[in-house]
Amino acid sequence: MYEVLIVGGGPAGLTAGMFCRMRKLSVQVVDAGRVGGQLVSLYGDKPVHDWPGFHDILASDLADQLIAHARELETAVATEQKVTDITPREGGFEIAVQDVVTGEPLAYQAQAVIVAIGGGAFEPRRLKVPGEDTLREDFLTYRMPDRARLAGRRVVVVGGGDSSLESAQRAHECGAGVTIIQVLERFTGMESNIEKVDAMGIPRHFNTRVRELVLEDGRLAGVVAQTRGAAEPLRLPCDYLVVNIGAAVNLDAVRRWGVEVEGSQIKVDSQMRTSVPGIFACGDIVTYEGKYKLLVTASSEGAVAANSAYAWVRKPPRVTMTDLYT
Ligand SMILES: Cc1cc2nc3c(=O)[nH]c(=O)nc-3n(C[C@H](O)[C@H](O)[C@H](O)COP(=O)(O)OP(=O)(O)OC[C@H]3O[C@@H](n4cnc5c(N)ncnc54)[C@H](O)[C@@H]3O)c2cc1C
Repeated sequence: MYEVLIVGGGPAGLTAGMFCRMRKLSVQVVDAGRVGGQLVSLYGDKPVHDWPGFHDILASDLADQLIAHARELETAVATEQKVTDITPREGGFEIAVQDVVTGEPLAYQAQAVIVAIGGGAFEPRRLKVPGEDTLREDFLTYRMPDRARLAGRRVVVVGGGDSSLESAQRAHECGAGVTIIQVLERFTGMESNIEKVDAMGIPRHFNTRVRELVLEDGRLAGVVAQTRGAAEPLRLPCDYLVVNIGAAVNLDAVRRWGVEVEGSQIKVDSQMRTSVPGIFACGDIVTYEGKYKLLVTASSEGAVAANSAYAWVRKPPRVTMTDLYT
């Protein structure tokens, strides 16, 4: 039996793993895909500008650093194993896992569990307009646009958060003609990202919703959108559509584990405790007052969750950090 099992090997889970190892806990990280989380699965070739100590670092390089650090501290990491169930057992939990490649069921036992599943089983939100399901990856993406596909293309980016602002910057830098469509009356991303798209002079349409995709011979030719209050719809030529309007999280599994959720997040207190004693959570999947979905907060919460798991498992008279400073 492990002392701690961590579900998810993104920035939150890896940091939790490191702090568990610094406390000399036996720990296993289990990830349904590749370790590194969104840094590798969603935006590996994007520079990250807000990781302290690095003015900018490529997301995949940051992931490599985190993984190497966790491994150096002898954090055991299993990939392509999806946690399906967490069931209380005498002295801890049984964690049911499915091998994603073979489909084989596996099981782990642990005294405490840290849930760090990020977006979890998340699906990118779709526009839900006719024709969307028929378009191939050359014409439509829900991630950051592929650099190799951008030069000379007419790109429409849908969304107003950081992901879409960064997609628009990338498309512009790679020589595409870019327009942003945002359903709200303003951008919701960080000021630094808004400044960049402003400086690039990227045209944008606020209060505007995509209504229809124009397809010609199975290829994307344009986007029809409606701006609130406008008499006529907007018709934009487009041969590469980038939809960054968030992700819909499927929390069915988490609910089955008995953990209380709020909206599409797991509710935690300031010590990253969930409603189930012995199960902690951290990173994008959690909510509390003032929560931000960032790499630094994910890591910080991972450290807190690890120390809370340590207190739960080892039951020291006091938990102090001084022994970690040496
Ligand atoms: C396009 C984009 C750009 C971004 N840029 C920045 C940025 O510049 N700066 C910044 O601070 N933040 C940025 N973010 C946000 C940042 O990536 C997240 O806040 C961070 O990755 C959250 O880390 P996490 O460990 O909680 O989750 P994740 O990174 O999502 O990792 C969760 C891991 O859990 C695994 N998992 C899920 N379900 C299971 C299961 N059932 N069993 C086992 N494993 C499971 C997944 O495979 C995944 O590896 C960006 C996000 C996006 C989408």
